[in-house]
Amino acid sequence: MKKSDIGIYGLGVMGQNLALNFNDNEFRVSAFNRKLPGEDNLVKEFMNGPASKTAIQGFEEVEDFVQSIKPPRKILIMVKAGAPVDSVIDQLRPLLDEGDILIDGGNSHHADTNRRSDMLENQNIYYVGTGVSGGEEGARNGPSLMPGGSEKAWPEIKPLFESIAATSPDGDACCSWMGSAGAGHFVKMVHNGIEYAIMQMIAECYEIMRLGMQMDNADIAQTFSSWNSDLLSSYLLEITADIFRVKDPEDDRTYIIDHILDKAGQKGTGRWTALTALELGVPLPMITEAVFARTMSSFKDLRIKASEEFEVNTIPLLKKESLDQLREALLGGQLIAFSEGFWLLRAAKQEYGWEIPFAEVADTWSGGCIIRSALLKPIAASFREKPELQHLLLAPLLKEMTNSVHENWRLIAAHAVESGLAVPVTAAALAHFDSLRSERLPANLIQAQRDYFGAHQYERTDQPRGKFFHTKWKERLQ
Ligand code: NDP
Repeated sequence: MKKSDIGIYGLGVMGQNLALNFNDNEFRVSAFNRKLPGEDNLVKEFMNGPASKTAIQGFEEVEDFVQSIKPPRKILIMVKAGAPVDSVIDQLRPLLDEGDILIDGGNSHHADTNRRSDMLENQNIYYVGTGVSGGEEGARNGPSLMPGGSEKAWPEIKPLFESIAATSPDGDACCSWMGSAGAGHFVKMVHNGIEYAIMQMIAECYEIMRLGMQMDNADIAQTFSSWNSDLLSSYLLEITADIFRVKDPEDDRTYIIDHILDKAGQKGTGRWTALTALELGVPLPMITEAVFARTMSSFKDLRIKASEEFEVNTIPLLKKESLDQLREALLGGQLIAFSEGFWLLRAAKQEYGWEIPFAEVADTWSGGCIIRSALLKPIAASFREKPELQHLLLAPLLKEMTNSVHENWRLIAAHAVESGLAVPVTAAALAHFDSLRSERLPANLIQAQRDYFGAHQYERTDQPRGKFFHTKWKERLQ
């Protein structure tokens, strides 16, 4: 039997679709899934179902699966993140030879990938942690891939990855090497953080259209569709417009969107992004607020109770001019979402010494993934021009966009607040912008308070930085 180019361990939604994608690209694939007592045999189901007319080989014994792969073996693990990845590594490790490559394509935490990569490299097994974005559809037809880990593995897996990856609008494969150890999984985590922020921003636009402008679903669909062009063109806007057109199968006079309970779920990657930002000391108010917005939504019963206690009248907006303002607010918010994500990547580069290539990250995200958007083109160009750019908004192209939208963005945020509409992310993004552009913040008062109650000292504006002072505040009170 001819040996396979790659093995896939884990035939869930992602594993099956990636296996089919590799097969379409004329790679030989071995497929394996664990078999738990009393459970259906997923390998047989896959081989008799979606893989039936392909050259994919299915295996029910892990030893046969490993032996079927051409050395140096490349095995893509597509299982649930966390302990399952460790248990799969423990199972595979004794069956591997030096120089073999294990690739974790799940949503693993970068710290776990650092640990696994250290452990396996010490045993001369190469380890790659790769972000995979695009969901089921992306896995089948072209995901965005963010690999990182053992550098020596990259030339071996590059042709496979580049073949199955999505293609960017410029015709390049949406796949780049992100750096050593957990860099790939870190980039994927940040991708998801940005995704949280943009999704919430779009949801707040919906809230403003629905309540502030009294628009119906057909009108909202039409508006999102019309926005999905030029700089705002994005996958998330495209699917949002579609959502407002889908009628309820139970009653086609109504829309499904109006029957969906307003409690947002989350699997944790947004929370990881926020926690990492706190650890690395990078201000990500928009992304963090998007995580809180989902969490707040989950307190449905409490919200129902509170809604009966407090009433605020919504002040109607004039639809025609307000829609243009809202569109600009959405653009402003997206600029901040990407700025926050890249700021965190920059901090990780400094903290962990990863060579994360920012322009290539933007290229990789420009196709196949959930946050693909026309904005990524000027972002990539800005990093190409100045790789060490400290904050994206300072890039001339983005500065110009921000200057053109911030007044209307402010009007929308102010109106929503006045009307009692909850727009935490629109406001947090604006606060990010306003704090960033404030030459002077009221942090002098924070320093005075800290020095007053805790003798924490402060620097003075008229003295060199790094020189600290303490005042005996009470003694100096007149
Ligand atoms: P599924 O839930 O569809 O499949 C999970 C797979 O993990 C199954 O094959 C399951 O096997 C296997 N598994 C679970 N526990 C163990 C274990 N202890 N040992 C061995 N195998 C185990 O997940 P997906 O395919 O959706 O996701 C796989 C990974 O990809 C996850 O990390 C996910 O976060 C990530 N991902 C998912 C995306 C998506 O849109 N779905 C997008 C990008 C990344 P069994 O059937 O026997 O339980």
